[in-house]
Amino acid sequence: MGVDGDWRGSQELAQTAQVVPLVRARALDRAFDYLVPEDLGPVAIGSLVACPLGRRAILGIVVGRDGATHEGKLAALAGVVAAPPISPELMDLAVWIARYYAAPLAACLRLVLRPGADGTLRRGADGSFRLAEPPGAGRRRLVARRLPEMSVASGRRAGIVRVLADGGGTLPAAELIRAAKTTMATLRRMADEGTISLTTEESGADANDWLGEGPPTRSVPPTLSPDQATALATIAAEPAGRFLLHGVTGSGKTEVYLRAIELARAEGRGSLLLVPEIALTPQTAGRLRARLGERVAIWHSGLSAGERVAEDRRIRDGRADVVVGARSAVFAPVLNLGLVIVDEEHDASYKQDQSPRYDARQVAYRRAAAAGARLLYGTATPRPESWKALTHLTLRSRPDGAPLPKVEVVDMRVQRAGPISRPLEWALQDAAARGEKAIVLLNRRGFSRMALCAGCGWIARCPDCDVALVLHRPDDGLVCHHCGFERGFPDLCPGCGAAGVMRQGTGTQGLEEALAAVVPGVPLVRLDADRAAGRGSIARILAEFARPGAAILLGTQMVAKGHDLPGVAVAAVIDADGPLQYPDFRAEERAFSLIVQLAGRAGRRAGEHSTVIVQAWEPAARAVQLAANHDVQGFLEGEIERRTRRGFPPFGHLVRVVVDGDVAADVAAAASTVAERLKEAAPDLMVLGPARLHRLRARERRAILIRADRAVQAVDPLRNIVADLAPELRRLEMRLVLDVDPQDT
Ligand code: ADP
Ligand code: ZN
Ligand code: ZN
Repeated sequence: MGVDGDWRGSQELAQTAQVVPLVRARALDRAFDYLVPEDLGPVAIGSLVACPLGRRAILGIVVGRDGATHEGKLAALAGVVAAPPISPELMDLAVWIARYYAAPLAACLRLVLRPGADGTLRRGADGSFRLAEPPGAGRRRLVARRLPEMSVASGRRAGIVRVLADGGGTLPAAELIRAAKTTMATLRRMADEGTISLTTEESGADANDWLGEGPPTRSVPPTLSPDQATALATIAAEPAGRFLLHGVTGSGKTEVYLRAIELARAEGRGSLLLVPEIALTPQTAGRLRARLGERVAIWHSGLSAGERVAEDRRIRDGRADVVVGARSAVFAPVLNLGLVIVDEEHDASYKQDQSPRYDARQVAYRRAAAAGARLLYGTATPRPESWKALTHLTLRSRPDGAPLPKVEVVDMRVQRAGPISRPLEWALQDAAARGEKAIVLLNRRGFSRMALCAGCGWIARCPDCDVALVLHRPDDGLVCHHCGFERGFPDLCPGCGAAGVMRQGTGTQGLEEALAAVVPGVPLVRLDADRAAGRGSIARILAEFARPGAAILLGTQMVAKGHDLPGVAVAAVIDADGPLQYPDFRAEERAFSLIVQLAGRAGRRAGEHSTVIVQAWEPAARAVQLAANHDVQGFLEGEIERRTRRGFPPFGHLVRVVVDGDVAADVAAAASTVAERLKEAAPDLMVLGPARLHRLRARERRAILIRADRAVQAVDPLRNIVADLAPELRRLEMRLVLDVDPQDT
């Protein structure tokens, strides 16, 4: 590279770029100056470049050009990566997320990078750089298969085999790893042992296999109802308006989305439709394709790398102008964005529960505002946040005039023991006799909730997490849902030595047995996270339920989400006020929305009679009563009143800080230091805690909750405090997590 003098001389004339290297080290999480060699080709903000860091060349994103003054030597960029640059719109979004959520900039830039690219660089023989595609790209992927004759596995591996079996016996390895929370190394060992097989296969690369079989429901647009027409006229009149479309399940919200998308298309603008979980709402994607044609792209984490690359390309070159997908679809590079829709906006899965802890609803709001696009949230149970901030559009009734079901609240305190009350038993037996279908919701997984000694009150707990262990299957041991710790079910109580430790509480699998006793012979179809893993498995489960004749669909809150299932005569929730037991200011909102959402699953066609049964231990609770009366407005007005008084969202923001580590005293001290410094730096904030949380994976934890009018008032001082404490935290191997607008407190 020549002598020092030449090097310096050329630098004064040379161009420079500010580049964020995509590394995980927090100490390197900022922009660095690099020289841009003249022969490098165009380098703009958003360009992907190879920057030397030590001896390696790593992927970096250009966040600025020139304008920097330098002392001393600068390294030169090694190359430009052959990949589309990130648009200015998405660059701004990433920077905003990093600031608002106090997240590492590199991690936020990775969000807007092509999906599936993990940021690893490959160097071609000619010296060019490109992004490494994760395994499975090029439309080939590793597929795991169960080998029936050899399925002898115990412990964790039995669980893996079970997930595979529930997925129909065959799953892409990547999906199996995610669903069974295991590793590729374990799968390879199992393949060596002959428990499963692993083969590389061509992927279908067709997003449609997520959508299940069967023709789309309707491709000829219906005549709009008066409420729909009013909603649409309001949307059309405001090209950058922000709306909350509120209506019960089946009131025709999706039809309004379709028209709004067509409207945007007529204006030459693209649309984004976010759904909580795409595999749960195959009809939505199917209806979109049927009505809007081929220019609809599907975008979510379940696609193979090859599919993602293909969809990404279709979006970038405008062959797809509508993108439907889950949380991460909010970053899809739709051209000339004109409309962002968030369906089921009440759904907590829009908040990512690991760093960057962004909320796709908030990001959607921000992105729509920056693009001058319309924003449309839709739900049967709006959040107070949206109710307060957005223009209301209301669909008062179902297009076909189907009435809302009558809801019966059953007081469980005066019922016999067991999960199924008399009224529910009778309703299920009636439905079975008429060959009708039922949905039963239970808010937990597992066979029985826990192991309990009636003699001394001993409860089987995880030694590392302080939480009760749960029983998954009658013949399996007890498992910790947090860390996977396992132990056998004790014959004798470890506390007092007595025989007869009891199984307490009922999970979905226990409920399955109780149901089989009440309505013998009726097909029971279970839908929960254990069974829903894997491509097409939800579609398969729902198809099984949809077969003619009586059937019961039972499961976790998944069964309350957006399926459009005709012929459901009974919908029941087993522990409706379960959420109320949690000390969280959103507990009422959750209980309310769960009941209303479930009630929306019953009797969705005119002429279908239906019964909704809500079993509760506190039947008079406000959330239960208002939900039983479908009184959404009454609930929200009360909720907003209560939150105004206490300054909870939407009247202010919360920020949660959790410190964890091995030593209780260190963790407590660090948490106190954060709280004290914050009170000094920002005396106007309300700082609660530190409070002790139960241990998790053998880590002690303390939490601080902060209330501020604007999140940034807490985040800015916290950022400095955390940077200050970072070396000490690292030294004691403690971690600190900042969660802005947390969903759980
Ligand atoms: P939501 O999204 O609120 O659950 P949908 O848009 O799915 O409601 O509508 C429920 C059902 O009513 C669907 O089968 C849909 O095709 C039908 N539908 C919607 N709007 C109309 C209308 N204006 N006329 C007749 N049928 C309609
Ligand atoms: Zn544990
Ligand atoms: Zn005991």
